[in-house]
Amino acid sequence: MSTKDYVEKDYYKALGVAKTAKPAEIKAAYRKLARKYHPDANKGDASAEERFKEISEAYSVLSDEKRRKEYDEARSLFGGGFRVPTGTRPGSQGGFGGFDFGDIFGGSGDNSGLGDILGGVFNRGRGTAQNRPRRGTDVETETTLTFGDAIDGTTVALRLTGEGPCPTCHGTGAKAGTVPRMCPSCQGTGQSSRNLGSFGISEPCKECHGRGLVVDDPCPACTGSGRAMSSRTIQARIPAGVSDGARIKLAGKGAPGERGGPSGDLYVRVHVKPHPVFGRQGSDLTVTIPVTFAEATLGAEVKVPAHRGAPVTVRIPPGTPNGRTFLVRGKGVRRKDGTTGNMRVTVEVQVPQDLNSKARSAIEELREATAGADPREELLERAKEA
Ligand SMILES: [Zn+2]
Ligand SMILES: [Zn+2]
Repeated sequence: MSTKDYVEKDYYKALGVAKTAKPAEIKAAYRKLARKYHPDANKGDASAEERFKEISEAYSVLSDEKRRKEYDEARSLFGGGFRVPTGTRPGSQGGFGGFDFGDIFGGSGDNSGLGDILGGVFNRGRGTAQNRPRRGTDVETETTLTFGDAIDGTTVALRLTGEGPCPTCHGTGAKAGTVPRMCPSCQGTGQSSRNLGSFGISEPCKECHGRGLVVDDPCPACTGSGRAMSSRTIQARIPAGVSDGARIKLAGKGAPGERGGPSGDLYVRVHVKPHPVFGRQGSDLTVTIPVTFAEATLGAEVKVPAHRGAPVTVRIPPGTPNGRTFLVRGKGVRRKDGTTGNMRVTVEVQVPQDLNSKARSAIEELREATAGADPREELLERAKEA
C-alpha cells in the first residue's frame, strides 16, 4: 500500500462503518461483506472480485491498531479537502487526480512512504529553522548631542541593553565548574521524533527545549537558561550635519547574530540641544542680530558671530528694514556632499529703552525734522478700498 492508497481510499466507506467504529464493529462489518463478495460465492463476477479485494485491503488496515492510526493520520493531513486540480502538471501520471505527492514534497516519487514524506516536511519546516544561523535583531537607541557636535559630527558612547549570553556562565547555563552535557533524549539535535508507525514527526525536544544540551547544575545567575540581560557600550560615529530628530542607521551594530549569523543594525535617534544663539534650517545656520535704528537707517558694518570661528563682518546697507535677512555664504553646516550651507543673518532693529538726555533731544530733533511724513497715510488710504 502506498501513500496514494491511504490518501485516496476510504477504508471506512469500503466497510460501511463510521470512523469511530470499534474493532468489533469493523470485524463484524468485514465478515458480513466478505461472505457476500467472496469469489467462491460470485464465480465469474469481476466487480464482486474487485469489491472483495477492496474490503480485504480495508480490513487489513483497519483491523491493525497501528496501521489504522497511521491511516487516520494520513487522512487527516492530506485526505479530506486536499484537492489539487488535475492537469496542473502535464506528464504526471500519479494517482490522486494526476497529482504526485513526490513532486511537492521532494520525495522519491510514486511509492515513497508517507513516513518519509512527513519526516521531510517537518524536518525542513522546523528542524533547519532552529539550527540555521540567525541574524541579530535591530536595536533602537537614542542620543542627545550638543548643537556644535551635531554640526561637526562626533563619536558618542552608546550603552545598549539587550539579551545576550549570561556573563556568569558564558551562555552555557551551567554552574561554574560544570559543563552542560549533550541531551540524551535527542542526542544533541534539539529535535525529537514522535514515531507514529512509519510517520516521523519532528518537534523541539521536550527534554532540552530544543537546545540539545541539558544542565545538571544550573547557573544561579540565569537559572540555567544561559541568557541574561546585559549591557554593552559601543562607540558610534555620528556624521557631521545631523538634524534634531534624525534616525541614523549604523549597520551591523545591533544585536549579535546567533550561530554565526550577522549582527542586526543599530538605529540611533538623535536629539540636538538648542543653541542660545544659532538655529538650524537644514544645512543653513540662522542667527538674529540686533541693529540700532541709526545702523539700519544710515547703514553700517556689523560684526556677526559665526559658529566655531571668528566673527564675520556683514555690511548693512542704508535703509535696511527690520527683519531683513542677509546671506553669508559658506558659514553654515557641512553637507554630505562636502559642500557647506550658509549663515542667514536676520536684522532686528532695536528700539532704545533708556535714552540719555542727548539721545532724547536728538530723537526729538528727528521727529521735528520728519514731522510732515505720516507712515500710516498710505495704509489709511488703502483701507478704504472695497
Ligand atoms: Zn548563567
Ligand atoms: Zn533534547
